[in-house]
Amino acid sequence: MSTTKQHSVVIIGYGGMGSYHGKLIKENAGLEVVGTYDVLQARQEASIEDGYFAYDSYEDVLNDSKVEVILIATPNEIHKDLSIQAMKAGKHIICEKPVTLSCEDFEEMFAVANENNCVLMVHQNRRWDEDFLVIKEMYDQKTIGDLFQIESRVHGANGIPGDWRHLKENGGGMLLDWGVHLLDQLLFMIDSKVTSVTSRLSFILGNEVDDGFEACLHFENGVTAVVEVGTTNFITLPRWYVKGLEGSAIIEDWSLKGRIVKRNNEAEKIEPKPIQAGVGLTKTMAPPSEGATITEALPAAYVQPSSFFDNFTAVIEGTAEPIVNNAEVLRVLKLIDAVFEAGRTNAVVKDFDLYESGSGRAAAALSVS
Ligand code: NAD
Repeated sequence: MSTTKQHSVVIIGYGGMGSYHGKLIKENAGLEVVGTYDVLQARQEASIEDGYFAYDSYEDVLNDSKVEVILIATPNEIHKDLSIQAMKAGKHIICEKPVTLSCEDFEEMFAVANENNCVLMVHQNRRWDEDFLVIKEMYDQKTIGDLFQIESRVHGANGIPGDWRHLKENGGGMLLDWGVHLLDQLLFMIDSKVTSVTSRLSFILGNEVDDGFEACLHFENGVTAVVEVGTTNFITLPRWYVKGLEGSAIIEDWSLKGRIVKRNNEAEKIEPKPIQAGVGLTKTMAPPSEGATITEALPAAYVQPSSFFDNFTAVIEGTAEPIVNNAEVLRVLKLIDAVFEAGRTNAVVKDFDLYESGSGRAAAALSVS
């Protein structure tokens, strides 16, 4: 990306993700971290040790006219207030996900961005994950025919991490954590309306917030997606399992271990031989006869036109549209509400999706800036 200017960024919340952002932005030509601010003295000191200037207060950050961009990496419930204050001071915003805890809060935040001509971009960074981009490539290119079932899972065995993620008032729980990413990936990839959702939220660990969930999404174009986040899984299932009309594919993990197995259309059709299965016999579940299938490597990943931070820089310079647009972010928040409702009521939830056919992936409820 060719840019001559470096836009100054201050990171608010110098915890796990805030400090990681510092490293990510160092690799970006268009942005420069000029300081940080954290309410915890220990994190202020950590920032200074890492070579940053630590502002004494949030007010000091907002009053500093050289600061163009505020990056919010605090617990979830204060994203909105911190962002609104900063946009009223004329700063552009990169905000961590989930951007807010409700659609109404995000609409309010978005209105302030428009009133103040500020760019507001949510860090939905997992649209750049290579495992996801391999699945997106298979979906777009029909590598194994039209995909009709997509199973996306992340499994851990460490419970809910940290402190605030255990609490409802902070926007804790796994649906508002990993769930945001997995649902965002699906809506970004599948250009179709979600017609219904069922879900089950897990409270196995005794927290007031979910320690995981399973959701099943039906799309108008016939695709079914199963999304699962687990924190009590001592044996993990594959990151992705997908079925297409011509084959199946699996991606085991983030190192992209996986394979495709396809129907061999050249092979002569041979009836499978029955096999012993448990105490019975089966032809249905017998492995395909020799030569009936072909095993292939996964395709190369779809290539995003630019990185998140390059795209953000281009958006504030007015030379690109955001890859993560705010109508899409609102659509994900609506879907999260539907997953919560389906879990709470044990019912099928319908008629919530903001998707409008013909408008591409973006929902129409916001006028996207
Ligand atoms: P964390 O607890 O490690 O860090 C949060 C920091 O914010 C803490 O140091 C805390 O002292 C500070 N803080 C709290 N209130 C503040 C305030 N009013 N002003 C300034 N600082 C304040 O949490 P984390 O894991 O870094 O998560 C932070 C955010 O990043 C969350 O929204 C989370 O969802 C998001 N996150 C995103 C990704 C991703 O891949 N996109 C990954 C991890 C976390």
